[in-house]
Amino acid sequence: HVVALLLEFGDINVDAGSGLVRAGAGAEWDRVVAASVDAGLGGIECLSGIPGSAGAVPVQNVGAYGAEISDVLTRVRLYDRRAHVDEWVPAADLDLDYRYSNLKFTHRALVLEIELQLSTDGLSKPLRFGQLTQQPGERRRVAEVREEVLRLRHGKGMVLDPQDHDTWSAGSFFTNPIVDPALAEAVCARVRANHGDAVAETMPRHAVAKGEKLSAAWLIEKAGFPKGYPGQGRATLSTKHTLALSNRGEARAEDIVALARDIRDGVRAAFGVELVPEPVWLGLAL
Ligand SMILES: Cc1cc2nc3c(=O)[nH]c(=O)nc-3n(C[C@H](O)[C@H](O)[C@H](O)COP(=O)(O)OP(=O)(O)OC[C@H]3O[C@@H](n4cnc5c(N)ncnc54)[C@H](O)[C@@H]3O)c2cc1C
Repeated sequence: HVVALLLEFGDINVDAGSGLVRAGAGAEWDRVVAASVDAGLGGIECLSGIPGSAGAVPVQNVGAYGAEISDVLTRVRLYDRRAHVDEWVPAADLDLDYRYSNLKFTHRALVLEIELQLSTDGLSKPLRFGQLTQQPGERRRVAEVREEVLRLRHGKGMVLDPQDHDTWSAGSFFTNPIVDPALAEAVCARVRANHGDAVAETMPRHAVAKGEKLSAAWLIEKAGFPKGYPGQGRATLSTKHTLALSNRGEARAEDIVALARDIRDGVRAAFGVELVPEPVWLGLAL
């Protein structure tokens, strides 16, 4: 069986002078962002509106709109479950990577507190996401960027609204695949063969340390799963965001799993790319 711990210590300390922010694991993450932005501190404004606790943020190196917590995380206070030690460890010890840390899946330690070093000049981190800036590298006022990110997230159904089934989701269901350049080239060739040159030219590809990062949402759409794809009915793709598997009101875990399999298999058949889910699975497997 599964033991769930609810960590209720949620103090948030923001030092506007030095830019140092500390938050207890139980603090609601978006309150940490809001308090930092209110103090004019920059670095986490792009991570506005992400549900969950501050303590979970390092676990999968939470990221959005071109920012990741690894950009600003200095230390975490960990309770090591094997050694029974409670100590501050540098962020470098967590092997932070795209949606990954060595805490994810291992349950080796509890995060008790996090510490961030933010910038103090009132400006955001350099923006590189097209929907936030026309000029890559631009820095805008932090409050402006937070507002814009919240607006974009609402538009994609990424902010819970009990009336809107599109928002009944676990967020982005699949991570963006990182593949070696030869596979990226092969995927592009398949897109070219199936959809023509013009579509192949628009295929998102970003060079990263371990190869090329492709867009899961783009591949899903091109494999024949448009927004709102109905699956078996009780679980469908969100009508606002291809990467969100949504519960239309009465879906059970098995409905979500069936839809996830359908999509994973379809993308594999179309492009030879294996999509990997982002949420942690309990008692079920894909
Ligand atoms: C609508 C929606 C949008 C989302 N958008 C994004 C996004 O843009 N970017 C992104 O990166 N994620 C996103 N997510 C995923 C999610 O918000 C993050 O993973 C968040 O950090 C989860 O926080 P939680 O407190 O709910 O953790 P849980 O979901 O309860 O836990 C997640 C994992 O972390 C572990 N964990 C949690 N707290 C601790 C702790 N204190 N110490 C050790 N381990 C811990 C758990 O055991 C579990 O394995 C989204 C989710 C939803 C539902």
